[in-house]
Amino acid sequence: HAKKLGKGQFQFYTESLNVEARDRLALDSALRRAVEQDELYVVYQPKVDANGRPFGFEALVRWDSAEFGSVSPVRFIPLAEENGLIGQVTWFVLREACHQAAAWRAAGNPKLRVAVNISPSLFREKDLAALVMSVLEEAGLPPENLELEITEGMLMGDVQRALAVLDELKAMGVYIAVDDFGTGYSSLAYLKRFPIDILKVDRSFVIECDCGNEGLAITRAVVSLAHSLNLRVVAEGVEKQTQLAVLNALGCQEFQGYLFAKPMPAAALEAYLANPTIAG
Ligand code: C2E
Ligand code: MG
Ligand code: MG
Ligand code: MG
Repeated sequence: HAKKLGKGQFQFYTESLNVEARDRLALDSALRRAVEQDELYVVYQPKVDANGRPFGFEALVRWDSAEFGSVSPVRFIPLAEENGLIGQVTWFVLREACHQAAAWRAAGNPKLRVAVNISPSLFREKDLAALVMSVLEEAGLPPENLELEITEGMLMGDVQRALAVLDELKAMGVYIAVDDFGTGYSSLAYLKRFPIDILKVDRSFVIECDCGNEGLAITRAVVSLAHSLNLRVVAEGVEKQTQLAVLNALGCQEFQGYLFAKPMPAAALEAYLANPTIAG
């Protein structure tokens, strides 16, 4: 009996793997078409200062698939990383974001900065800095208006290579933020060597920072690390006044989260900028 059960389980297992593989394949080809057929678009989430005033926006990609409905970037970005579409997806987001920021400048907001997420495989791309430069030129956007968000893991693999890429971007005048900070395994010694401007405290810690447990300890540690390295620090995923109060007390002065604003389509930005909700 046990043997039979074991065999059945094995069959069930391979079958579910097949279903998963088939789903992935379908999603994969849908994403290929999406890139060509304008199913992707970009939304913008404000980053605000202690007075609730926006100083920049993070560009976040969205996919409304004719076949699958709206698919989260948490699902399709890793897929794009694997199937080689990440380059096209990122250039789309980067181009949109840079044109958008150029429009903000033209409308009288010269300092607003747009942040774009750069994923690991692109970071290994030889000409990243040159490609970024060509998009900036095409959009007519000064490099100071662009911020690139990378993750800790990207710094730790090939350190020499990461240093070379970041030095090149930094020399251009682009800002560098380390996203989801605290979830990786950065060595402090390394962190100091990289030309980084900003640390973004991961949402998983911010969520818990008002509960007095580990989240608070890690948030405090990241904020003081940022201050001692002379970096700016942004708390991401701030949803509650109680979290904001703790962050303020810790000396964190830049925030991103639903408490202030959700990501919004480009068309909604003008109204938001004219009247951002002042929190705190
Ligand atoms: P991320 O870069 O850490 O972006 C922040 C995510 O947190 C966004 O989710 C944002 O909508 C969400 N968020 C912000 N504030 C709050 C809050 O108060 N509460 C909650 N519950 N969530 C909040 P989103 O847009 O679903 O993106 C998820 C991840 O997908 C991003 O995490 C990023 O890693 C990746 N991603 C999104 N767009 C792109 C892109 O254009 N390129 C690349 N490479 N990755 C992207
Ligand atoms: Mg990000
Ligand atoms: Mg983040
Ligand atoms: Mg995150």
